[in-house]
Amino acid sequence: MEFTSFGAARTVTGSKHLLRTESGKTVLLDCGLFQGRDPRNPTLNTHFGFDPRSIDFLILSHAHIDHSGLIPKLVKDGFTGPIFASQATIDLCGIMLPDSGHIQEADVAFSNKFRKRDGRALKKPLYTVKDAYACLKQFKAVSFYDWHELEEDLAFQIIPNGHLLGSGAVVVSWKDQASGAERRLAYTGDIGRPEPNMLKAPMPLPEVDYLICESTYGDRLHDNQDFGLSDLVQLIRETCVERQGKLIIPAFSIGRTQEIVFALDYLHNFEMLPPIQVYVDSPLSTKGTEIYRKHLEAFNAQFQRYLAQDATPFAFPQLHFIESADESKALNDSPDPCIIISASGMMEAGRIRHHMFNHIENPNNTLLIVGYSEPSSLGGQLTHGARTIRLFRQDLQVKARVEVIQSYSGHADYREILHYLHPLNQGRLKAVFLVHGDYESQLALASRMHRQGYPNIEIPDRGQTRTLA
Ligand SMILES: [Zn+2]
Repeated sequence: MEFTSFGAARTVTGSKHLLRTESGKTVLLDCGLFQGRDPRNPTLNTHFGFDPRSIDFLILSHAHIDHSGLIPKLVKDGFTGPIFASQATIDLCGIMLPDSGHIQEADVAFSNKFRKRDGRALKKPLYTVKDAYACLKQFKAVSFYDWHELEEDLAFQIIPNGHLLGSGAVVVSWKDQASGAERRLAYTGDIGRPEPNMLKAPMPLPEVDYLICESTYGDRLHDNQDFGLSDLVQLIRETCVERQGKLIIPAFSIGRTQEIVFALDYLHNFEMLPPIQVYVDSPLSTKGTEIYRKHLEAFNAQFQRYLAQDATPFAFPQLHFIESADESKALNDSPDPCIIISASGMMEAGRIRHHMFNHIENPNNTLLIVGYSEPSSLGGQLTHGARTIRLFRQDLQVKARVEVIQSYSGHADYREILHYLHPLNQGRLKAVFLVHGDYESQLALASRMHRQGYPNIEIPDRGQTRTLA
């Protein structure tokens, strides 16, 4: 078996890990979009580094766009095989991939306006909404934990990992031809927190010979998880009551938005939420919340107890889901204090950019960052204290208060990663490959794992092939 990373190698986005068996079959683990403002991204998103027609199977760990967002292009460019994922992941991809197609089309239309004016060649979208709908036909639902045979001596299972609704680690099993022995590889996908706000905790991995492990927070520890809720109440009071400003929360439409809405629902039930209006301004978030309502089996015992008391955990009288662009624009003109939750989380697309554009220069407003943003993205720049930002071809002064609450992160920190990996049998493990992290985070995690006795920890670069004997 051979293993090569074609994305999320020494970086966070673009997850694509290719396995090639001795008989020549190819299994692609994830097919994500490179996100952020890295100038290499357009090229990396155009050229996979392999021929999509040569791929036999795709197994998807979860629906986030940095793991799934190039599937429509993979199919458009000739991949005809099955795409295996959990039912919840398929449901989420059913709304997220067409939305991504819409963003691709809208971004190209925006930049083509200027290209046309300047007499430059027009760009084409990576893929369209239609391409996104077309790829959905190749998805096949698999149950968690069950082994699924791809061909003789090649099988896989998905184990829930608490990162996102439907998310899981992928374990691949094959027979080594020289020794005849079974070999196993686990790909962690994105590892959730040990006590996720709503989802069930990550389940332990079985014994494996090889591990492909994410390392997003390989050099960091999160705040105490309770910090989020009390901090949220304080911020709402300071911004919306004392300063009569707006609290703007950029959030991934899927996952983070539902967590925030649930937190506000909780605060409302316990009469801790001031009487201000809350708007979820993202059509995708509205659809995503419907999918969350459909998969309540995926939630942890604490959330199930909450459900017994409140059957509508994503609804309270002050909460409004905004659909039309006109309603969204009206929010910008309204002087009333309010909370606006809008996508995308990294602020590189979606309606959040209009809210940023209209509110970032007012010191009475607060921007609350509650998730990971790729460092070069607008969200990443603001997380790291940028005082000016560039948006819609204009430079804006960051006068609004900017706060970052890390406890909402969907990614395990290094202590939590090591805790998650602890049940692995180190005696059987032959090598560990760190992916999905900035190089500094990966080096930090590698040295921690080395101290804990993990063998052969490698940080593969894009396109480097390793043989898994
Ligand atoms: Zn993810």
